[in-house]
Amino acid sequence: MNQSEEEKGTELPYALRDKRELKREESFNFGCHPGLACFTDCCADVNIILTPVDVLRLSRRKEMSTGDFLRKHTLTLFTKDLNLPVVVLRMNDDEKKKCPFVDDGGCSVYEDRPWSCRMYPLGMALPPARAGEEPEPIFFLFEDDFCHGDREETQWTVESWRENQGVTEREELESGYRELVVHPWFIGGRQLDAKRMNMFYTACYDLDSFRRFVFDTTFLKRFELEESVTEEMRQNDEDLLRFAFRWLHFALFGEPTMTVREDARPDGGAGNREAKDQEE
Ligand code: SF4
Ligand code: SF4
Repeated sequence: MNQSEEEKGTELPYALRDKRELKREESFNFGCHPGLACFTDCCADVNIILTPVDVLRLSRRKEMSTGDFLRKHTLTLFTKDLNLPVVVLRMNDDEKKKCPFVDDGGCSVYEDRPWSCRMYPLGMALPPARAGEEPEPIFFLFEDDFCHGDREETQWTVESWRENQGVTEREELESGYRELVVHPWFIGGRQLDAKRMNMFYTACYDLDSFRRFVFDTTFLKRFELEESVTEEMRQNDEDLLRFAFRWLHFALFGEPTMTVREDARPDGGAGNREAKDQEE
């Protein structure tokens, strides 16, 4: 049975409730360049939710560890409405509350700017998980008065904008994170305990700590892993992040994405779930 528009509306994040929904093929006018009077007006006093890919790319851009980046540049929100902690970019602590990365030339981290900065003026919401249904993203157009971009003539569809802004190119990695956020395990209001919340935060956002967990503990002795996967994640941060998502499917939801080594099983083979619980 399809949801009524009313039901769907009440489930959307507050910021998107009155926005105009756009289908993927629908078009809108938009342009953004330094010649506009509003240039960088959008880069202050704004909630920018960071994805794990954002934290990784921005921390590398700033030549910081993920831990240092998180401490200096982010806030973590825990709310009852959300299944998992949300990481947001910390604005400067002054009157204008500017983004720490904006300067007179615009965005100083442009090539590594966050997902939501790329998407603007579009927003996206995911409906809550439902058994047997792949959540289909819903797209919205922000029509903020301060933004003059909609006076420009260039026309975009949702898809062509995402392509142009480099959103499509990161989709595979971003979707690994979204699959966790809207996982069917949460259906019926189930909540993770604090320990698993912390595991999610570390694996998704503090990738340098997660690397130590994988390579500097007995982790590799306890799980069977393809040598190529181990080597890839040793060499490449994004492969490590892919592996972090895989690990979380096992550690949070008990999915069989990891195999415990025979000799690491506490009872000689009672199964992965027990071994994982022991590890905790
Ligand atoms: S056009 Fe909109 S997005 Fe671009 S700088 Fe102006 S306010 Fe920001
Ligand atoms: S990261 Fe860049 S685009 Fe995003 S708010 Fe900051 S300065 Fe603006």
